[in-house]
Amino acid sequence: MSMHENCIFCKIVNGDIPAAKVFENEHVLAFLDISQVSKGHTLVIPKLHQENIFELKPETAKELFSVVPKISNAIKEAYQPLGLNILNNNGEIAGQTVFHYHLHLIPRYGKGDGFG
Ligand code: 5GP
Ligand code: ZN
Repeated sequence: MSMHENCIFCKIVNGDIPAAKVFENEHVLAFLDISQVSKGHTLVIPKLHQENIFELKPETAKELFSVVPKISNAIKEAYQPLGLNILNNNGEIAGQTVFHYHLHLIPRYGKGDGFG
């Protein structure tokens, strides 16, 4: 597994820093965002370090996206949101702050849910 030094998400994959895990398999990890924009805000990442969509390998994308419906349904059951946004920032100008590919799964509860 490619472990990139100073990558906070590689450290989470490695167990070097803790995270509230939502889902894990061989290729993918999902955990709660440390600074939630709404209740249940979850990040889904490939275990392999790939910076953003411009580096993401099709095989990695396939492994990642194949579990997104399952994770979305787990969030739906746990938090009972009315909807869910999926976001992905690529590049600093686009708001990316952690340069290890990730999807934001943001549960929506209606007006005043803190997002949008
Ligand atoms: P970006 O801005 O790159 O799309 O999103 C990075 C996300 O990672 C942010 O929402 C931020 O709150 C989250 N984050 C940054 N550091 C940590 C951490 O150490 N643990 C967790 N769980 N989330 C983090
Ligand atoms: Zn990484």
